[in-house]
Amino acid sequence: MFTSLPAHVRVYEVGPRDGLQNEKVFISTPDKLRLIDALAAAGLSTIEVTSFVNPRWIPPLADAEHVVAALAGRTSPRFSALVPNERGLDRALAHGLPEVAVFMSASESHNAKNVNKSIAETYLAFEAVFARCAAAGIAVRAYVSTVWGCPYEGHVSPDRVLEVALRLLDMGAYEISLGDTIGIGTPRQTATLLETLLTDIPANRLAMHMHDTRGTALANCVVGLELGITTFDASVGGMGGCPYAPGASGNLATEDLVYMLHGMGISTGVDLVALTAAGRLAQSLVGRTLPGRALAALIASEN
Ligand code: MG
Repeated sequence: MFTSLPAHVRVYEVGPRDGLQNEKVFISTPDKLRLIDALAAAGLSTIEVTSFVNPRWIPPLADAEHVVAALAGRTSPRFSALVPNERGLDRALAHGLPEVAVFMSASESHNAKNVNKSIAETYLAFEAVFARCAAAGIAVRAYVSTVWGCPYEGHVSPDRVLEVALRLLDMGAYEISLGDTIGIGTPRQTATLLETLLTDIPANRLAMHMHDTRGTALANCVVGLELGITTFDASVGGMGGCPYAPGASGNLATEDLVYMLHGMGISTGVDLVALTAAGRLAQSLVGRTLPGRALAALIASEN
């Protein structure tokens, strides 16, 4: 058991984007920057700070330009932003980000709801985004949603996921972030899925983006660790979910992930005490207790 765990894991923090995009209240730009600073101070090496989707779709992130402009010139941590299309890319490119992320779904129905395009049309739209990023020296991360299952179609076959992932890598993505959008994955399924993907894709090109909707996120991460995955997405305090996936809630909480990894002897570069301070700040900004369990326990132990 646990004979092939990695020594180090990269925790990819998505709270300021994936968390805040689902918040009802608008968090001011200075407050967003305070949260990003707190996450950076905790040692998170990569932080997705906002999204350049149309502000009409995601009003909480309507200040994307202001957030990214305020971070311009800072090279550590590495900042990234979500970019849905060329228009979003135009907005992102103005501020010198080293990395952007595109997104699509492995299932047609969720892709249609989320990006209003068929999968074939999505690839077509991505071509220009990837070409312009390559020309500008900007790394592209690709999110694939509904990898463990779709709220409209149910089961999604691992072969289908492999096909989508290979296409995105071929277009130039440096990494594919596999999303359990509705948080339904269980460990045996995760093993089958990853074993299929790893036949054609090296483990260091894959990341896992788990939702803890049903309490199985960490169990799935352990399977990923054992199979060589070394990048895991998480959101401070467990903020966020997916606005277009009914019932989806609860990104895996960064504190839960980091607590488990450190306990397993896997380094992350993250200071759990400083991360708790970021979690506290996140809770005070959104005005409610966040679902992360390690955060609650860490706060309780401080009191
Ligand atoms: Mg998420």
